Amino acid sequence: MTLNNFFQPNSCDRRQFITATGVLVVGGLISCSSKHDDTRVDAQQVPQKHIPIPTEPITMRVCVGKMRNRNGFELDGEHIYLTKEGWKYRSSNTLSPEIVDGAMWIHISATHTMIMLEKIKRCTGKISLHPRSDISPHAFDVVVHVPMEEYIPGVIAGELYSHWHPNTFAAQAIAARSYAAAQHLQRKNASHYDVSDGPSSQVFLGDVTLDVAHRAVNETRGVLLTWNNKIVPSYYSACCGGMAAAASDAISSSHLHNIPPLQGRSGNDVCTSLGVHQWTVTRSHRNLKKRLSQWSDTLTSRPLKKMRSIQSIIPVQTNKHGRPIKLEITDRQKNAYNISAKQFVHAANTSFPSIPTPNQRVWSSCLVASRSGLDIELRGVGMGHGVGLCQYGAQALAGKDMSWESILKWYYPSVDIESL
Ligand SMILES: [Zn+2]
Repeated sequence: MTLNNFFQPNSCDRRQFITATGVLVVGGLISCSSKHDDTRVDAQQVPQKHIPIPTEPITMRVCVGKMRNRNGFELDGEHIYLTKEGWKYRSSNTLSPEIVDGAMWIHISATHTMIMLEKIKRCTGKISLHPRSDISPHAFDVVVHVPMEEYIPGVIAGELYSHWHPNTFAAQAIAARSYAAAQHLQRKNASHYDVSDGPSSQVFLGDVTLDVAHRAVNETRGVLLTWNNKIVPSYYSACCGGMAAAASDAISSSHLHNIPPLQGRSGNDVCTSLGVHQWTVTRSHRNLKKRLSQWSDTLTSRPLKKMRSIQSIIPVQTNKHGRPIKLEITDRQKNAYNISAKQFVHAANTSFPSIPTPNQRVWSSCLVASRSGLDIELRGVGMGHGVGLCQYGAQALAGKDMSWESILKWYYPSVDIESL
């Protein structure tokens, strides 16, 4: 299979992707956040040990806001902020916080409305605010504490389109639960939160009323993906572009990723029959070169420090499924520079204050690029890192009446599906 017809990106958002590729999706869009990418920062903070199956119910700690000044946070109409002297808020009967080791805990078993800058979120239950003096005297993180089975509906309602098939929702619920459980068990003693609420981790909308999401969670309550009696940190992405990625290439080299369910299935995926899987992105050659150089300068080895104007980018190493893991950039002096496909996407999408932000992201690492006048045209397939479940593919399979069990066994080879 030639890569010439493929393109793809990494982190992005599904609405941006649909807009960029000109694909129309019929039906409601619950969330514009989407999937996974290489930008899954939290996902990349990987496990040091294999993760045992939990023996107790898990309450997820979800970071829903990172407040960095005095003005941003409002809880149930109460403006709360942090100064060098401590927490400030208008005294009221509705808020009876407890301060533990500097963190503010608010225990109310009701639905909260939080306003964080432009974002509004409604969540039920306990909230904690954690000072981030490492950033500034005013900075703090907002964390909500949500029992796993109440957390998952808010994830899958944000990760999938509301009109998608119930079996897609059920498969996604199990993948999201296994990913969340793995994150919780790895981070519970190391951080004040397990996951964030955006695509760098997995989307969480807060309390949702979407019926298909609640039904999927009820149908799969307590079900996890395991392998060899350990939890599988089940990464997933929007579209694999037909070629599966291995977690050890696309997420991190942690030994936790060297298990069969995270090596990728063999064989082409059904998502290649969907128009959504291909993309083309045009970048000014100056902008792309500058961005890659700036990224390179952040590394000690500065791998691209001598690179001149970019002429082409081609895959020079692929995994066993045909997905690029290394790209070669050739400049106008015919010098070649190798870079991992994951790093390229990260560099191409990173924001630098001194460089104008491009209109379109590079959607995945499955790409080739060539010079066209003053532009670089990147053509690729897929959206996101390509590890594990492919959301568009899962939806196509569910449309063919495939069960959620079969969908999960296709995307996570050799996986066990266990109900706790
Ligand atoms: Zn796919």
